[in-house]
Amino acid sequence: MLGSRRHILGLGAGVVMTGLVPETAAASDSAPLFKVTPSLLPVAGQAGTFPVRRIYCIGRNYPDHAKEMGGDPKTEPPFFFQKASDAVQIVPAGATVEHPYPPLTNNYHYELELVAVLKSGGRNIPEASALDHVFGYAVGLDMTRRDLQQAMKDQRKPWEIGKSFDHAAPIGPILPVVETGHFTKGAIRLTVNGVVKQKDDLASMIWSVAEQISKLSESSELVAGDIIFSGTPAGVGPVVRGDVITGHIDGLPDLTIKIV
Ligand code: MN
Repeated sequence: MLGSRRHILGLGAGVVMTGLVPETAAASDSAPLFKVTPSLLPVAGQAGTFPVRRIYCIGRNYPDHAKEMGGDPKTEPPFFFQKASDAVQIVPAGATVEHPYPPLTNNYHYELELVAVLKSGGRNIPEASALDHVFGYAVGLDMTRRDLQQAMKDQRKPWEIGKSFDHAAPIGPILPVVETGHFTKGAIRLTVNGVVKQKDDLASMIWSVAEQISKLSESSELVAGDIIFSGTPAGVGPVVRGDVITGHIDGLPDLTIKIV
């Protein structure tokens, strides 16, 4: 009886959970019932694409932003959340991509962030070797329904609805580390309709990308395809339909979206 139930559910008998490979159906009846489109990010100057596995984001990682969100940057340990992997919105270099104003919010915020994308991973990765796992970097926006996030915080409920929704993660092309080196300093600047709203230096990060990788790998195994939004400077704020947002990080192509 157990066997027939397994068959109906498409579960293979004797599934071994290794942690590295997701559980899958038995080979004999493993054809997917329908197609799910993976998120594939373009890599500058390269034909291959980068498949996204998970999107991790660190919170409150620039001192002035931590303060504006009501935190104490000196005493708090790093914390992370995730966005759905299919929340990426690809923004080609030189293009202005239309970004739909999402439902349920009246206070829609930009957060400009450096994104590190991983070619490998592991558990308990030492900080000293953490950057060896980085394939490249991109400019990203951690778009946020701030009113929903705040309302859920106030109710002591999970604030996922404020962070994970369709198109919540616009991202520019990936530049491979082999061409750019690592991004540990350099200007990060966001404008709305040409007015500077966020301006800082990557060196201001409280937790470096290497430290973020190391910390994340203590909590979950990191795997090739994981990408990490590394936090946003102070100056987050609302946008409305018609606004044009441009994100700049020294050494990467600018990212521009128009809210529609
Ligand atoms: Mn953020």
